[in-house]
Amino acid sequence: MPVVFPQRITILGATGSIGASTLDVISRHPDRYSVFALTAHREANRLAELCFRFSPRYAVMVDVAAAKELRGLLQGCSTTVLDGGQALCEVASAPETDVVMAAIVGAAGLRPTLAAVTAGKKVLLANKEALVMSGQLFMDAVEASGCRLYPIDSEHNAVFQSLPKDFRRHPEEDGIRRILLTASGGPFRHASPEKLETVTPDEACAHPIWSMGRKISVDSATMMNKGLEVIEAHWLFGVAPNRIEVVIHPQGIIHSMVDYVDGSVLAQLGNPDMRIPIANALACPERIDSGANALDLFDIAGLSFERPDFGRFPCLSLAYQALEAGGSMPAALNAANEEAVAAFLDGRLGFCRIADVIAATLECDGWPGAETLEAVLESDARARSFACDEIRKRRTV
Ligand code: NAD
Ligand code: MG
Repeated sequence: MPVVFPQRITILGATGSIGASTLDVISRHPDRYSVFALTAHREANRLAELCFRFSPRYAVMVDVAAAKELRGLLQGCSTTVLDGGQALCEVASAPETDVVMAAIVGAAGLRPTLAAVTAGKKVLLANKEALVMSGQLFMDAVEASGCRLYPIDSEHNAVFQSLPKDFRRHPEEDGIRRILLTASGGPFRHASPEKLETVTPDEACAHPIWSMGRKISVDSATMMNKGLEVIEAHWLFGVAPNRIEVVIHPQGIIHSMVDYVDGSVLAQLGNPDMRIPIANALACPERIDSGANALDLFDIAGLSFERPDFGRFPCLSLAYQALEAGGSMPAALNAANEEAVAAFLDGRLGFCRIADVIAATLECDGWPGAETLEAVLESDARARSFACDEIRKRRTV
């Protein structure tokens, strides 16, 4: 079917870092894209500013009190304010929306992202936690609805750009040997084990290359972000866990690579700027201006590569273990990580204890499986409750 312009977009998580980059790209192409709905958790002032600028048909605040505040701020404006979690699903699946940017952070994004997938929308997936939690279920829903799914994570978008055009998730048939996922290594790449014990939230969120939300910044510091991305790559591209290799590449210029059996390695390079994968996914197969600076190779002193240190960054091993174990283990891994990171960010848990809490949670058994959405959500809830007990045992204040 030919694409009709302007494409009407719903941005789930519009007030976040990916939301801002998406709106920046969209604002460069008013003939191609218009905003149908913007959503946020509880940042009423920020969402009001965005509504004045982009005039969406709907604004959704999950928090009911914040929605009331937003209604007050938007008096006289044409935007209708909705509230609650169900409204996220409604705007994500509304017939008037063509494209959904899934940029809520964490498990809260699962239901609305699945609603967009089930409704057969073009879905741009930044919310990796949704796919990690529900892997098979999510990809089955993509298959069943014919939804077009585009990865926004820079690594997965790089892989997507390096794969054959008609790739159908059968890597062997296309001569693919491995996926090489690059990682900057985060702010503590060379930190000693003693230093890691005393890391503060602000130090963990000071990423050397990317400016991102606080949860993903901590995930990058523990390398759980790369672990979640290994799981994400497995589901997106159908590649076995032992064929997904993590390569530390501190400059963040090569965003990932595909290694083919003939010895060719295809890569995507670019400045570290999330507007590049966002513009790619929005316009694919066309190319549009993203606002990012052109890459100046003469400016880059060199490109270097290191093996990841699984000893100092146990979260990476825990993610591989959860993926190998399958079932609801990735959902449990994700839930325990979300709780542990939240506790670290508000000073209740030490940085190195994040991995301990996750490891303890994965040792539990009797999870309800991951065949249905209810089972996934039940695993998520149980893992959170278990992880919270573990956090209390290790509480720092
Ligand atoms: P962020 O914290 O900057 O923004 C999160 C957004 O989600 C906000 O709009 C917030 O209002 C909304 N939100 C938070 N909790 C919610 C809830 N309970 N219900 C509904 N909405 C809620 O996060 P971010 O850095 O933009 O990351 C968003 C997603 O994109 C994450 O899954 C992250 O892993 C992924 N991602 C981000 C980057 C990046 O550069 N920031 C890169 C790759 C992938
Ligand atoms: Mg990434």
